[in-house]
Amino acid sequence: MNKIWLSSPHLSGHEQKYVQEAFAANWIAPLGPNVDGFERDLCTYVGAGHAAALSSGTAALHLALILLGVGNGDVVLCQSFTFAASANPIVYQGATPVFVDSELDSWNISPDALETAIKSEKAKGKNVKAVIAVHLYGMPAQMREIQEICQLHDIPLIEDAAEALGASYQGKKMGSFGLLNVLSFNGNKIITTSGGGALLSDNEAFIQKARFLATQARDNAPHYQHSEIGYNYRLSNICAGIGRGQMEVIDERVAQRRANFAFYERELSGIEGITFQPEAEGSFSNRWLSCIVVNPKLTGGITRETIRLALASQNIEARPLWKPMHLQPIFQDAPFYGKSISERLFENGLCLPSGSNLTQEELGRVTTGIKKCFI
Ligand SMILES: *Cc1c(COP(=O)(O)O)cnc(C)c1O
Repeated sequence: MNKIWLSSPHLSGHEQKYVQEAFAANWIAPLGPNVDGFERDLCTYVGAGHAAALSSGTAALHLALILLGVGNGDVVLCQSFTFAASANPIVYQGATPVFVDSELDSWNISPDALETAIKSEKAKGKNVKAVIAVHLYGMPAQMREIQEICQLHDIPLIEDAAEALGASYQGKKMGSFGLLNVLSFNGNKIITTSGGGALLSDNEAFIQKARFLATQARDNAPHYQHSEIGYNYRLSNICAGIGRGQMEVIDERVAQRRANFAFYERELSGIEGITFQPEAEGSFSNRWLSCIVVNPKLTGGITRETIRLALASQNIEARPLWKPMHLQPIFQDAPFYGKSISERLFENGLCLPSGSNLTQEELGRVTTGIKKCFI
């Protein structure tokens, strides 16, 4: 039986046209017409003013923190329930990550816990420089409340929309809510450039500065002159060509991923003890990954590990939900605000195969494999 992957690249067939154009024009560099075109495509689609195409989502997060002046001794509040790349750049800048728990309506950062964290870090005399909210598995966080809290306390909001291209909240696309917004085009994301990312903002000066820093911070001089520390974070014109081909089909990809989720929900919601990542009123997830929670008290002792291992034995890849950052060895000393919501989601949650290129037969293999655990 062929392997069923969690989320594999799904090319449209149009990518090679753009890559070919780059070869024909000899634009084999981290700049060129595909980079410009990809940035335009992203701005138009997301409804953002400006975009810088970068080498990764991690690079975009790092530049976002630099642009906000995050440095030694500062505090950045970050959703705990996420991939480590959301938090690592805080440490690159010598700042302290402070982690915030999730809420159950979206599985993303809890507005209540965020408010408590801001007040208590400020009371400790900390300089709270930014908030990083994540839209996990493509599910929008509660942006209205989060924006209000950030405005009230005058703290800039960074949206980590790495998993959420194509998702929207109250009719507005994810990646357009923060002062600075991050996308990723890694190989397993909803669209891919093989590896890549972008920083989006309505503030043109931020994006110009991001491009400057991402190309080694060269001053305007005929020789190489530097007044600031620079980075090599730009996206290659070849990779950007792949991105342009992918942007032609982004809405189809979202529809396919949502159809996967609908299929799983239809097939599995009859099983006592299996629930799904909820989609609140006004939220539209891209369903990058379809996620379930398995409650062993209701399944007669069947855990998410029972299911994961049963699927693995049938050559089907499924994966536990993200392990929260406040439980990671590297962040064990970082402050944490909240209860144990993300911890419980991690203990009982499972991501099912979710690629937009899965066949109906493959999806059926997954649900049959799960149902067998309950016979
Ligand atoms: C993938 C991902 C990133 C990092 O993106 P890369 O392009 O892999 O550097 C950041 N945050 C989240 C939530 C992600 O899933």
